[in-house]
Amino acid sequence: DPLGPTVCVGEILVEIVATTVGDGFLKAQPLVGPFASGAPAIFISQCGRLGGKAAMVGAVGDDDFGRVNTDRLKRDGVDVSTISIDPDYPTGSAFVRYRKDGSRDFVYNIATSAAARFGWSQAVGDLINRSGHLHVMGSALSVPSARAVIDKAVDIVKARGGTLSVDPNIRKELKLDEDTERRFSKLVAAADLLLPSGEELERAAGIEGEAEAIRRLFEMGVKEIVLKRGADGATYFGRQRDRIDAPAFVVQEVDPTGAGDCFGGAYLTCRRLGMSPQQALTYGSAAGARNVTVLGPMEGAGTRQELDAFIASTERRP
Ligand code: ATP
Ligand code: MG
Repeated sequence: DPLGPTVCVGEILVEIVATTVGDGFLKAQPLVGPFASGAPAIFISQCGRLGGKAAMVGAVGDDDFGRVNTDRLKRDGVDVSTISIDPDYPTGSAFVRYRKDGSRDFVYNIATSAAARFGWSQAVGDLINRSGHLHVMGSALSVPSARAVIDKAVDIVKARGGTLSVDPNIRKELKLDEDTERRFSKLVAAADLLLPSGEELERAAGIEGEAEAIRRLFEMGVKEIVLKRGADGATYFGRQRDRIDAPAFVVQEVDPTGAGDCFGGAYLTCRRLGMSPQQALTYGSAAGARNVTVLGPMEGAGTRQELDAFIASTERRP
């Protein structure tokens, strides 16, 4: 990988999960955690596990929740030297409880945690100047510190011939202020790989209809699109109007959180390792499916060996 590691910038959190299904946190109840989490951290964990060179930019507090994350990413083979340790603020956290209908209640501490308190530094600059790929979550654009790092990093990575992947990760209804919307569009247009899920495709394109959205995104400058459809699988769209549908693997879903990030981390890493879209789709689908069979947002992220075993032993939907 002559151009250097894949870098992900964004929030690092612990997740604490209610072990019973129901409404929210108003009553004392059994919980399990802390699990290492944060969408960007899940993505980079999967990159590292698959054997891609990977590095994370973000911050944790000087506490055990932070160490859960840095220890975990280090074990996955991720360079954690650009994760800063905030002396004053605690590691970010998310408490989550699933309702009967599959929707979720959250209690977050992100904006006022270490997760949102990092910025450009000498170490971050040195990393970006030797990196070959940047992965960005659209949701990070509403965190000012992350936004400042991303803005600078996109330009540097692109200028040195590196590539950019973007997971819009933004609800369809969400209205951004004018400035953030402009930044979001610019980011999408610069994406070599766009990884939307469901309606995020139309949200990113700013137009209704799947075919129209795909056409518009290629016009904007996007190079490659992979649409994630949960248990219905995923679809690759190429600029030559080529399309590959990848069926989902049949699994027992225990915890759906993190599927999209594991899928993306695996797909991107395989592409960077020189695999075809078809092959990368197989690993991405396996990574997403395997991850939902284990409790915890990144506990099911697989190594190359684990994913090969999963692929060989798991049926795909017809
Ligand atoms: P997230 O909840 O992490 O935001 P996402 O919405 O971005 O996820 P999904 O479409 O839910 O992404 O999942 C990504 C991929 O993982 C899917 O395209 C599919 O290949 C696989 N996957 C997800 N859920 C399942 C499932 N229940 N069974 C089989 N495969 C799944
Ligand atoms: Mg998603």
